[in-house]
Amino acid sequence: MKLFITGASSGIGAALARHYARLHAGDLIIGIAGRHAERLTTLGGELGRACVQTYIHDVTDRIALRKAADDFLLRFGTPDLVIANAGISTGTDGGRDGDMEVLSRVLETNVTGLAATLQPFVVPMRTAGRGRLVGIASVAGFRGLPGSGAYSASKAAAIAWLEALRVELHGSGVRVVTICPGYIDTPMTRVNNYIMPFVMSAEEGAKRIARAIDSGRSLVIVPWQMRLVFSVLRLLPPWMHDAIFSRVPRKPLI
Ligand code: NDP
Repeated sequence: MKLFITGASSGIGAALARHYARLHAGDLIIGIAGRHAERLTTLGGELGRACVQTYIHDVTDRIALRKAADDFLLRFGTPDLVIANAGISTGTDGGRDGDMEVLSRVLETNVTGLAATLQPFVVPMRTAGRGRLVGIASVAGFRGLPGSGAYSASKAAAIAWLEALRVELHGSGVRVVTICPGYIDTPMTRVNNYIMPFVMSAEEGAKRIARAIDSGRSLVIVPWQMRLVFSVLRLLPPWMHDAIFSRVPRKPLI
């Protein structure tokens, strides 16, 4: 099993790396990417008998992403699985000075960074006629959440970009999977000062995400309770959405 994953230094990414290391033990080749070398080194030490290659880069640096992908391909060949997981979330307010800079940074990380992570692997996978390209989006991409405008917009764009890629690769043997988690307990959500419905540990989240990737479905909301909630919320007419969401708590502004 050959896996390349971004955002591996924390939260869901680190938990996914540990999950696959447990599952595949000495049979795993894993490229772990992030910006913080020491965190990735610590994670590498937790991955048992897996063959670990560390990549230190920012997902907004497309040249560095391409170099990392080329290095992985050269050393190990075409991966079985690539997970574009790196992302940021920050409270926003559309009327605030400085909000456009935040929007731009969030889009650059969560949309362009996700696409640029997967892109170098598309041709090798298509040539091999196999492989899975996974993007970690969010249920926040289904509706515009107040106080999370930049994040919601980025995840909506990620969902659409992944869908387009899936159609482009239709029939090639390469699968594109969009994962939309609800709330998972990680440094990203620990700043939220409100009750998060159906929140789960990163370990449990990773287990369910891995199962979702294997399920053969193209877009999976995790956990199933959130799937039920969002299957209704996605269909609400705008007036009802606005009335309900104007009351929900907002992510703190930074
Ligand atoms: P964390 O903050 O714990 O981890 C985010 C990861 O992304 C870190 O490893 C961080 O690496 C990496 N990262 C962020 N920005 C960059 C960047 N510019 N370049 C490279 N790496 C970067 O958050 P989560 O684990 O919770 O989030 C992982 C993904 O899951 C994100 O895409 C998030 O939007 C999504 N998600 C999370 C949910 C949740 O409830 N937690 C719900 C829905 C979706 P480092 O800082 O070390 O460089």
